[in-house]
Amino acid sequence: MSKKYDTPLLDELEKGAFPSFVKEIKRAATHSDMANDLLGHTELCYKERVTHWKHGGIVGVRGYGGGVIGRYSDIPDKFPGVAHFHTVRLNSPSGFYYNAAALKELCDLWDKYGSGLTNVHGSTGDLVFLGTRTEQLEPFFAETSSRGWDLGGSGSALRTPSCCLGKSRCEWANIDTMAITNDITQHYQDEMHRPAFPYKFKFKVAGCPVDCIASIARADMSIIGTWKGDIRINQDEVLKYSKTMDIKAEIIDMCPTGCMQFDGKAMKIDNSNCNRCMHCIAKMTKALRPGTEQGATLLLGSKAPIVTGALMSWVIVPFIKMEPPYEEFYDLIDKIWEWWDEHGKNRERIGELIERLSFPRFLKDVGLEPSPAMVKEPRRDPFFFWAEEDIER
Ligand code: SF4
Ligand code: SF4
Repeated sequence: MSKKYDTPLLDELEKGAFPSFVKEIKRAATHSDMANDLLGHTELCYKERVTHWKHGGIVGVRGYGGGVIGRYSDIPDKFPGVAHFHTVRLNSPSGFYYNAAALKELCDLWDKYGSGLTNVHGSTGDLVFLGTRTEQLEPFFAETSSRGWDLGGSGSALRTPSCCLGKSRCEWANIDTMAITNDITQHYQDEMHRPAFPYKFKFKVAGCPVDCIASIARADMSIIGTWKGDIRINQDEVLKYSKTMDIKAEIIDMCPTGCMQFDGKAMKIDNSNCNRCMHCIAKMTKALRPGTEQGATLLLGSKAPIVTGALMSWVIVPFIKMEPPYEEFYDLIDKIWEWWDEHGKNRERIGELIERLSFPRFLKDVGLEPSPAMVKEPRRDPFFFWAEEDIER
């Protein structure tokens, strides 16, 4: 199939820092009418500085309320290949592990039922299939689900939970991120597939505070692995590091809480003041390791700026053991969702609701004890204000 459209603006964009957006559509256009019309359609949008995508109607597959995002062109006569251009989200495996055969299978299926264009992964964490027609949705879903795949979340529902690769490859993981993500996914199948929330809700699970999955900025609930007690120190290894790096400049002076000391012979850490930033552990991997009593900190409320501005998650449970069957965790989530369901406005994220009704009210209503770890920003600006009777008590 030869190129049908002149695309001077897209050609220019292709010369920039992120050429794959254009390059991959052009590649798909060599064998897909849809991708070919997408080139012409996108070029026209840029030329006229207006989008020709309209948000159209509800589309989906039987038995599911989410997982498919409807997209239609408002100039279908001009570009029939993209008259319908729906996005399908597939639930990604925990830790984003695929083998080559699985990826090839999915790509072949999308060549058969859609444009051939995919997005691995969308910022939601899903495996995203871009562009298909309404009548192709059921057959695509039937074939993918018969091979063990499922739709991801979309709309006002629980979105596909995602995580860092955790204990499968990373020595710093304090929790089994992949097992937790899989358990949440199985536990809340109904909440994922049948949108019934005021708005979207996302879980992201990081094995340690390095937070490779960026849960603190992107998840309504961030589950971040942490430890209690002392950082484990191997003093022999510390001495070896002292021969190859300036420990004072690179570690001691960089500790955000100033809780470390090194006198040339041994390293000391005042663990009661460590805020688990991971800097020292990440720089001295052979000498320092997280403590042995491991669990997670739960944080709530982050989101990107859609209705109001961006929010970062803040701590609601400083430490929780995240071990099967996760009863304490699920009890808390159910209470949070009930509260959100009762008080949330349409399209109001949980973080926005807490800001509107206040954090003390949230804590009281869901039965959480206030704690000094609940700060809006580290080491300043307490989010919770104690009443006089609390102080007396
Ligand atoms: Fe490892 Fe922590 Fe990153 Fe997870 S978040 S991959 S545990 S460094
Ligand atoms: Fe300091 Fe961070 Fe290391 Fe804790 S983890 S001792 S705060 S550098």
